[in-house]
Amino acid sequence: MPVTRSTRTLVLTALRARGPMSRADLARYAGVAPSTVSGLVQELLAAGLVVTAPHSGGAAQRGRPGLSLTLNPRLGAVAGVEFCFDRLRVLLCDLAHNVIGTARCELPYAHGSGIALAAAEKLVGEALAAAGLRRDALVAVGVSVPGPVSRHPDAVTPSAILPGWHGVTAAEIAAGLGVAVSIDNDSNLAALGEHRWGAGRGCADSVTLKFHYGIGCGLFANGALIRGRGGAGEIGHVTVDQRGPLCRCGKRGCLETYAAISAITDALRPRHGTLTLPELMRLLAARDPGAVRVVGDAAELIGTHLATVCNLLAPQRVIVTGPMAQAGDLVLEPIRTAIRRHTAPNPVPEVVLGSLGGRNTALGAIALALDETGWLPAKRPRG
Ligand SMILES: [Zn+2]
Repeated sequence: MPVTRSTRTLVLTALRARGPMSRADLARYAGVAPSTVSGLVQELLAAGLVVTAPHSGGAAQRGRPGLSLTLNPRLGAVAGVEFCFDRLRVLLCDLAHNVIGTARCELPYAHGSGIALAAAEKLVGEALAAAGLRRDALVAVGVSVPGPVSRHPDAVTPSAILPGWHGVTAAEIAAGLGVAVSIDNDSNLAALGEHRWGAGRGCADSVTLKFHYGIGCGLFANGALIRGRGGAGEIGHVTVDQRGPLCRCGKRGCLETYAAISAITDALRPRHGTLTLPELMRLLAARDPGAVRVVGDAAELIGTHLATVCNLLAPQRVIVTGPMAQAGDLVLEPIRTAIRRHTAPNPVPEVVLGSLGGRNTALGAIALALDETGWLPAKRPRG
């Protein structure tokens, strides 16, 4: 069977988005005979666009044992930029899906988008330089923001949650960085990172909880991330008590106001004063009874509402991520117990910790960029 332009595009797109693949996987993906892929692969190897690589064990890469095919890592790099309320993280990945750089900096709390985007441009440039790459090696950027995002065209949705970012678009960020940019919400990208490279790998139906100063979910159903009109997965703003405390979203009594980190540290303040997150973790490590109780109650409440999500979506796996996942079984067990108690008649999903730690969101931003950029190698690599 002759190699068509569309087969070549499919194979290169698959290697860009999925990373290391065997010839057999590529043939299945492209829907062509293995012999067709073999001929094409020989051509791509000869042109230096594709290389064979043993499983490298890189932080983002989990190739199958034995030889895989990847895009030539020297063809370029993709950045994941994760904006948080008070800091910024950049991860850099080559086109064989190896993490090749990381950088981070603090941001003023409640910063506007101007300060944050300028810091991101600087940090991406520093990460490229540290990896020995020129600026034009960057082929795409994925951006995570801690608030609602509308997609296609990508833009930050005006909301009380991220007031300094109203209406910021991917096109504006792309103009500053000089490459294509995709944006999504941090919980969606945590879920995408875990789905592609972490605890959600191989699982078509999963719920990834991000348990931090906010509470959010990324929802995978039938292998695809559910975005709705851009705000799917906002479990933190489900109403627990409509007469409850005022939430940052403008409503009262949202789940976040009872169970996010700020609610936990507020509940512990009479006994322990104002706690930082590391101080809270130290109390939990020492099994301080008050801290264990308050965190357990928060996790149980989250689990109760996750059970509703499980009844609606019937996931195979619930993945717990975010800074509170560092507490391990102290959050996992109450969530597991509540889900077991309240999920019916659907089968009870397994409840596990994320496996990518604090990098899952920036890795998810990289996965988004790799999925959505139209970039493909067109000629022989430089040098
Ligand atoms: Zn709310």
